[in-house]
This record gives sequence, C-alpha cells and structure tokens, in this order.
Amino acid sequence: MIYLDNAATTKAAPEVVEAMLPYFTENYGNPSTIYSLGSSAKKAVNEARRNLAEVIGAKQEEIYFTAGGSEADNWALKAAAEACGEKGKHIITTRIEHHAVLHTCEYLEKRGYEVTYLEVDSDGLVDPEALRRAIRPDTILISIMFANNEIGVIEPIAELGAIAREHGILFHTDAVQAFGQVPMNVDELNVDMLSASAHKLNGPKGVGMLYIRTGVKIRSFVHGGAQERGRRAGTENVPGIVGFGAAAARAMRIMDEKMKKELQLRDYLIGRIEKEIPYSRLNGHRTRRLPGNVNFSFEFIEGESMLIMLDMKGICASSGSACTSGSLDPSHVLLAIGLKHEVAHGSLRLTLSEENTKEEMDLVVDELKRIVQRLREMSPLYEDFMRKNQA
Ligand SMILES: *Cc1c(COP(=O)(O)O)cnc(C)c1O
Repeated sequence: MIYLDNAATTKAAPEVVEAMLPYFTENYGNPSTIYSLGSSAKKAVNEARRNLAEVIGAKQEEIYFTAGGSEADNWALKAAAEACGEKGKHIITTRIEHHAVLHTCEYLEKRGYEVTYLEVDSDGLVDPEALRRAIRPDTILISIMFANNEIGVIEPIAELGAIAREHGILFHTDAVQAFGQVPMNVDELNVDMLSASAHKLNGPKGVGMLYIRTGVKIRSFVHGGAQERGRRAGTENVPGIVGFGAAAARAMRIMDEKMKKELQLRDYLIGRIEKEIPYSRLNGHRTRRLPGNVNFSFEFIEGESMLIMLDMKGICASSGSACTSGSLDPSHVLLAIGLKHEVAHGSLRLTLSEENTKEEMDLVVDELKRIVQRLREMSPLYEDFMRKNQA
C-alpha cells in the first residue's frame, strides 16, 4: 500500500501510542482528584499542554483541549460571535475555509450575523488589501485558515493578522493542516485564536486544541465542571491529550528533516506529472504551499474513477471533489480558484509524509499515467477535443 492521504489523517507514531498506553491502564486517574493517581494524570496533561504551547510560542495556560479541530473552529467562531455580539454582527472569512468554519458561519448567518466571504486569486491566496476593504465598523471577527487542506496554499497570516489587530478585531486561524508541520509563532502571526488537531500530525483522532490569547474574552464552549479553566467542561481525554503532546514533541524534533524530505518528494512528483501527463494543472501556489501537498486537475476525466483505479493498485489518494460525500458539487476550493466544474471534477490530491519514498513517487506517476490515459480513451469529451485539435 502507498498512503498519500496525510491531509485526511495520519498514522499515529509508535512513540505516540507508547506514551498513551499507560493512561488507559495503570494511570487511569481523573486529573481533578487529589490523590496521587489523579495528580500524575494531571501532570501528564499539563506536560502535553506545555509541548503544544511550545509549537506556537504560546503560554501553557493559553492552550485549551478540545475533541478535535472541528470543535476548536466551532468554539472560536460561535463563542467570539456571542461575546462580541454587542459591538456588531459582521464576520469576515474566505471562500476556501474548511467546512468546520464555513458551516459554522452559515449557522451564525441564520442567527443574525452577516458574513463576508473573501475571494482568493487563482493560486488560492487571500489579498490583504481585500481584507482591509471588507472591514466595517461592526466587524467583530476575522477567521482565515493558515494553510488550505485541499490545495496546500499557505496564506499570509502575519500580514492579515496585523490588519485585524490594527482595527482591534479578533483574529482566528484554522491551523489544523500546518500545526507542527511548518514553523509558526502566535505573536509574529498576530493571531488571537488558533485551532489544531492531533490526528493530522501523527497523533490520535478525537483530540484537538484551541489557543486563546490571554485577555481575549470568549465564552465557555461546554458547560459543566471546572476543567480547562472553566471554559471547556468534561473529564479530560487523558490518553488522547498525552498522545497529542507526544505528537507535538515529535513534530518539533523532526520538523526540519520532514519538511526537507517532503519538499523534495513533492517537487519531484509535481515535476514528473507536469512533464509526463498532458492537460494537467497544478492547483494552489507553487511555492507558498505545504511541503507535503500535491493537487492536480486532469482535464477530460472524473476524479472518482481515478481514485477507484488508484485504490485497485493499493494507492490511497483523495479527489478534490466532494462526490465521495454523496454530493455532486465539485470542491468549493477548486471553484474558488477559478476552475470550471468539469475540470474541478477531474482533480486529485496526493499528500505526503516523511515515510514516503522516491520509488513510491515513481510507481504512482507510472500508474497515474496509465490511468489517466485509459480514462481519457473512454471519454467522449476527450475524443471530441482531439478531433477538433487535429482538424
Ligand atoms: C482536518 C481539518 C479540520 C477538522 O479537524 P478534526 O480534528 O478532524 O475535527 C479542520 N480544519 C482543517 C483545515 C482540517 O484539515
């Protein structure tokens, strides 16, 4: 099997699983209790908090654990909207956010908030001047993702955050795809809130975090006990949190080497596809992109058929389209960068890890060439196009 869907989820690293195991068995105590079994769990939770804070240059007490990236995004948007509702009801985000942000914005729109969705250019980049123009006296929150999960584009967050700060508006970034993958610092980025999720960096599924800058007044998300300083109730997911902390420590340790390796493989893969598969287009900015992200559109074919044929060869990839979730609409991200519906439908996302090899890249391109050719031979659109081209 060749796994090239690391943007969807990653394999938990052995050292992460090993760190978690004792917290299911001998160290099962509730962190809120005072006997030593509980306090050793509490110590482990706080050590994880320290590891996570370090990844983004935050203070330990600014990290709040959640049940994943989606919950962190929901919390940031809903709670900030509620807390600032007196000042205004205008929110700014982009067309290319993850659904955890977009659908939360739609939810808020139904409750009287107004949302501006910034356009992006053909590379997927947000224009800071467009953000400046969209700001109104009643703007209370700006949420722009650090890196896009489909096309890997890395947004100019520091610049966007500076504009938000200049206007005294809360700024949130969904950094789920980039956290622990590329360097980031919340002070340099001018962000007030930042979401991350463990399973995108070789940690366990179902645990994430929201960074909330000291002094930012946003509401509790889950009401109940006093956990997470009263802002997110519920007995802590101790093994998950410990796993997240271990994954963060590992990510920091291997970051430089991992980035270098993925970048090399990424650019090799992009180069071969561009050279050897005609009528293909790289989606997302060529250099301002995540080290492990490759996203292509191939004209005249269906992404879904490509995925099925790749799967038959043991290659796990993802299409840019949302067909898999039962909808026939192509990806909102690919439409936002200006692709036509039929081109967006023929898209493929390959996301790498540090474990992939050049041999795997060669195998994938060789298969892909055959698959694209076979699908095009069956495509009436392609036949038509070739006939016209020859005429
Ligand atoms: C995966 C992802 C999420 C959701 O995180 P979960 O932990 O799966 O809930 C949110 N935003 C982005 C950009 C993602 O890639």
